[in-house]
Amino acid sequence: MQHWSEYSDPALIRSLAAEIARISRRPARIMEVCGGQTHAILRHALDTLLPPRITLLHGPGCPVCVTPAAYLDHAIQMARQPGVIVTTFGDLLRVPSASSGDLYGVKAAGADVRVITSPLQALDFASRHPDRQVVHLAIGFETTAPANALLPVLARERQLDNVSLLVSQFLVPPILRAICTDPATAPDAFLAAGHVCAITGSDPYDALARELGRPIAITGFQPADILLGILEIVRLLEHGRAAMINAYPRMVRPEGNPAARSILETVFEITDREWRGLGRVPLSGLSLKPDWAAFDAAQRFPMRPVEDPPPGEADCPAADVLLGRLQPDHCPHFAIRCTPDTPLGAPMVSPEGACAAFFHHRGTSPP
Ligand code: SF4
Repeated sequence: MQHWSEYSDPALIRSLAAEIARISRRPARIMEVCGGQTHAILRHALDTLLPPRITLLHGPGCPVCVTPAAYLDHAIQMARQPGVIVTTFGDLLRVPSASSGDLYGVKAAGADVRVITSPLQALDFASRHPDRQVVHLAIGFETTAPANALLPVLARERQLDNVSLLVSQFLVPPILRAICTDPATAPDAFLAAGHVCAITGSDPYDALARELGRPIAITGFQPADILLGILEIVRLLEHGRAAMINAYPRMVRPEGNPAARSILETVFEITDREWRGLGRVPLSGLSLKPDWAAFDAAQRFPMRPVEDPPPGEADCPAADVLLGRLQPDHCPHFAIRCTPDTPLGAPMVSPEGACAAFFHHRGTSPP
């Protein structure tokens, strides 16, 4: 399969779905951990091609959805400081904070919040505005971390001391471990996101599958990629094997991307990290190493402490959605109180959120 269109070929998709149905014997709950894959599944109705005994769960793979509410409060505090430019990806703008509204509201009230498409644009702002402080909101998984890590490296090279990062970077494997601590709700297998594994390599997931006692298939984002991943999972489950299959070898190598891994290891260290609605997960995130502390916005600017609402106490049951315990359209607020125009939680705000995916692709009526 050389061309992108071939990965959406209807005949190929039908044959993969038929093969899944042919070999599948036992019920299986399979969780993808990538907002892009969630949307591809819903957009192409891939779940409707599967036998009813296979259930797809939509895990905590949307970076904006897992960014803590308190982080947004801190970002808003920074944006309100005189002379500060805050740079962010657009999907963070409307995510509710714990107590201060959202960045969109702060921007509308006059704060200098700029939507960027690359962290390196923050460097341009810093060099063009030497009298201002530029704070970049560095969030996301292993996919965004290398570009965010490049920011302080280049700032140091260019002797720019007016740029810093507010970091809330997440790692995927620790949250898979956390999800599997409750055997009653843990999925039977995982689809791992190809772009994450393109950075880290497939090797860590090989060991992880054995550790978790569950199959993991590394998959891409086109319909045929996702169905191929599900087919590999079903094969492993039917044979009772807890192994990793790289079903996306055109992008993922065992060792990953050495240059990206090198810059990650230079700039970041592994730390405990708060996940929105899920609480603190040990060793599940990245923070700046002490050598790069001068670029840590949390140290550069005084911030009023803010607590995230305890898991389960918020009006929005996003934690249950993120853990695969609740399908988005079974949330009592789905498409009633909670819509993309009136979101109660981050999964309805973000273009990568599972609730937004159901709203846009599955219809707006609760089942
Ligand atoms: S539908 Fe809305 S309220 Fe329900 S879990 Fe999703 S974001 Fe939260």
